[in-house]
Order: sequence, then C-alpha cells, then structure tokens
Amino acid sequence: MDMRQGLPVSPGIAIGEVFLLEAEGVRIPEHFIAPEHALAEAERLGKALDEAAQELRKLAEQVRAKSGSKIGEIFVAHAGMLEDESFRKELVERVTQKYYTAEFAVARTMRHWRKVFQEDAFLAARVADLDDLERRLLRSLLGQKREELSTLQREVIVVAHDLSPSQIATVDTGHVKAFATDAGGPTSHTAIIASAMGLPAVVGLGTITNDVSGGDLLIVDGSQGLVIIEPDAETLERYQARRNESMETGRVLLRKFKDLPTETRDGRHVGLFANIESPKDISRALEYGAEGIGLYRTEFLFLGRKTPPTERDHLEAYVEAVRQLGDRPIIIRTLDLGADKFALDTPVVKEGNPFLGMRSLRYCLSHPDLLVVQLRAILKASALGNVKVMFPLVSSLEELQRAKRVLAEIQEDFSRNGLQYDPDMEVGAMIEVPSAAVCADSLARHCDFFSVGTNDLIQYSLAVDRANEHVAHLYRPEHPAVLRLIKMASDAARRASIPVGLCGEMASVLTYTALLVGLGINSLSVAPPQVLPEIKKAIRSLKF
Ligand code: PEP
Ligand code: MG
Repeated sequence: MDMRQGLPVSPGIAIGEVFLLEAEGVRIPEHFIAPEHALAEAERLGKALDEAAQELRKLAEQVRAKSGSKIGEIFVAHAGMLEDESFRKELVERVTQKYYTAEFAVARTMRHWRKVFQEDAFLAARVADLDDLERRLLRSLLGQKREELSTLQREVIVVAHDLSPSQIATVDTGHVKAFATDAGGPTSHTAIIASAMGLPAVVGLGTITNDVSGGDLLIVDGSQGLVIIEPDAETLERYQARRNESMETGRVLLRKFKDLPTETRDGRHVGLFANIESPKDISRALEYGAEGIGLYRTEFLFLGRKTPPTERDHLEAYVEAVRQLGDRPIIIRTLDLGADKFALDTPVVKEGNPFLGMRSLRYCLSHPDLLVVQLRAILKASALGNVKVMFPLVSSLEELQRAKRVLAEIQEDFSRNGLQYDPDMEVGAMIEVPSAAVCADSLARHCDFFSVGTNDLIQYSLAVDRANEHVAHLYRPEHPAVLRLIKMASDAARRASIPVGLCGEMASVLTYTALLVGLGINSLSVAPPQVLPEIKKAIRSLKF
C-alpha cells in the first residue's frame, strides 16, 4: 500500500481500478496467467517485440528517405531498445517467473525504466521515448481488445499526467468514477470539469502516473486530496464504510433541506445556484436544490469542434437549458476562450503570457463575429425564459461599455426586424480582475449584477497561476487581499443596489460560507451541486 498527497479539487471518495491514460492510452484487462500458459505468453510477447522493432526500422527508413534527416535515428534507437538482450530478458522473466500477462509485463517494465530515466539528469529527457514504445507495444499486444477512454467497458479511475480538453471531450462519463493527475492547480480545467461531473478528483500529485500501473486498485479521496495505491484490506474496508456513510449523510441532508428556503436565522436570503458546462448538467443541479444556474460556461460549446459554433448551435443549447429550467434564472456567460481554456482553430498569436493576453472578453471584442453570433442566440433565448447575460474578465469600464454597445446594436436590429427578445434582460459583469474590484463602483452603475469569479481574482491578485501545482500552496482564497477585493465588489454592489453573486470554486467550500455571507455576497453558484444541501444547512444556522 502506498499513499500520495495532492490537491483536493472535487470532493467525494471513489474506489476502483486504474485506467492509466497517456503513458499507455489504453487499459490492460488481465494481469496474470496460469503458470502452464507462461511459455506461450512469452512467445506472444517475443513476437510483439519483433514486430514492433521491424515496424520501427521501416519507419526509420521512410523518415530518412523523405527528409534525409536525423529524425530517423530516433526510431532506430527505439528499435535497438526492443532488440536489446537484457531488456527483453527483463520483460520475458516477468512472464515466465511472475506469470504476468505480456501487457502487464510491458507496463511494469516500462514503469521501472521510467523511474530509472527520471532519476538521471541526462536520461530524463528521454522518458517520452519510453512512453512511445510502451504505447506501441501495448497497441500491438492488445490489438482489437484495446480499450480507450471513449469506450470503457467497466468503471475506472482515470490517472493521467494532465487531461487535455480534447481528452475530456471523449470521456465516457458513465464509466469514469474519479480523476487523479500529476499536474494541475486548484482551479485548473481538470478540477472544474471533475466537479461539474460530480466526480472526486485529486490533482497536482506530481508522479502518480509513474506510481501506478493500469489495473491497480486505487482509492481517491477528493475531499482530503489523498490517493491510496493498492490499499490493504483494512484501509479498503475503512474507505468503503466512509464512502457509504457520506453517501447516506448526503441523502439525509438532501431530504431534510432540499425544500427549505436558504435563509439565515435573521431572515437574509442567500441564493444558491449551480455552475454548468452544458445543459446536460442541469438535471443534477435541480435534483440537489439549485434555484437556477449562476454560471453557464459556454466555451464548452467549442469542445470537440473544428469550427466555432453557429448561432443555431448556441441557440439549441440555450433553448434546451431554458426548457429544463422553466422560470428559474440562468446566467449565460459569453465565451471565455483562451489561456488554460480552449484553444481555437484560428490560433491567436503565440503569447508569452496567455493568462494576461488575448483571452475571454478581450478576445471576443477583437473578434466581434464570435460575440455577435453568441449574443444573438442569447437574446433569442431571452424571449423564452429567465435569461441573463454576463461578460467575463472585465478589466475596465470601457471594456464593459464596448461589450454592451455590441449587445445594444443587436437589440436594435432585433427590434427593427420584429424578432422576439426580452428588452429587460439583465446584463452582468464578472469581477475577476483586481482592477474591476477596485473600480467596482463605476462598473456597478453600468450593469444589473456582479458575479465575483474568485478562480481568476485569486490568481491575478496574488500572482499565482491557478493551474500550476508548484505554486498551489500560494493560491489562498482567504488571503486578506482577496477578501478585501471581494468586499470592495460587494460594498459597491450594495451602494448601487445591485446584487452580487460569487461563482468561483470558493463558493463551493463550506469553510468560506459564513465569511462570504458576512461579506455581503447575495448568492453562491457552486459545483458540484452535491455540496448544496450542506451549504444551505450552514447558511440556515447563521445570523447575518
Ligand atoms: C472564476 O474565474 O472564478 C470563474 C468562475 O470563471 P472560470 O473558472 O471559468 O475562469
Ligand atoms: Mg474566470
């Protein structure tokens, strides 16, 4: 049994088999063979090694013929490794002496060599070559039996270095129980997506992909940020009991609080909403008692697409959301593309500091076609339900006014052409850049509500990359500077008589509930929605 501490980013306990992504990209279904099958298995392994080496030599020839370059040498070196006597012996002995399947022998041997390479300053740069070889061998051994993230046959815990948006797009959500990754900070996209899916997740584990093999038994404790590898019987039992207990407590809390109002003991209402990435997330949000949607991250419409969504694509998503919500409100945030979110097909200039560059509202204002298409769809949806629009990453009054002008022009166009829309649709600004918090009083005069985005506000005020595990210890929601900025936004909103919500991950952490209510925040928008009953319980126990 082994234990690793990472960053807790999505609560809950999951117990299951490792699906090791990236190093192998596939799952190994069987680990052991009967001793009488060892020789045949060793032969199968030998054949796969020969075939892979031959393939690599052919590839080297092709590359050389095509480009005459030295790149071919890389494949020759890979082939050489597969033909190396001692390497082959190590692999085969795992089959003939330990009775591993050929696939499991490959995974274990590569894991051993990865560790050796990583500890050597010169060889560390070649770890990717080992990953490549491993993938090649496993693909050849598994052939048709290959199982990938999109076609899982049973429940697994996904272990990866990091999850790219496109990998996440292929996740078979019915079969993934949790995530554990080497990289990622407290509000990286892996963290956000895991909580939107309501799955436990631990990120920033450093070396988890080297510490486990596909098929290992794993416990992911997303509340404590712990990952336990191959737990012993007693630990397993303890965690099974804790998991069942917390599920039961969750059910009891939900039953007890779902239909009660979210009010402090002295009668101050605090709105409780959920964050979503797609209308698919709405039913779960409502099930846990959300009053509506406090943040719809529409950039997820870009996931898995080669071209930007059309007005009709946007509209379909918004109409579906409104259909599910009835009269309940939904805040649709305009596209927040760039930085750690989604790359576009039409690449923006290469930037040294993407978090300070062409992301979010700035990107949309310099690509008005994108913004217009989206705002037209939002406006059309406003005729059908309780829709509000919100602009992200506002850093100055001028920016907010420019965005509002684009909206006003579309409204005029709709009126001229007799298209239906809600002329009183509320327009909000996210307060997630320190300048916006400091100038909140001037922004407040020009919008109908604020929503504090602490994920970005923390990173920009403390100069801590939200997605970087190496500085995660400096990412502190309770830092006095962050609290003062939240208070500035909240005070400005109160003075202008507009509501102020908070939709960063901080809203979902029970430790901060009393603090945020005390700072005058009117509503919290959370993910995953499972935390709603607990937060409601806390609010009902407070006096404002
Ligand atoms: C935030 O920054 O707090 C926020 C809610 O937006 P996102 O996490 O999508 O950047
Ligand atoms: Mg943000």
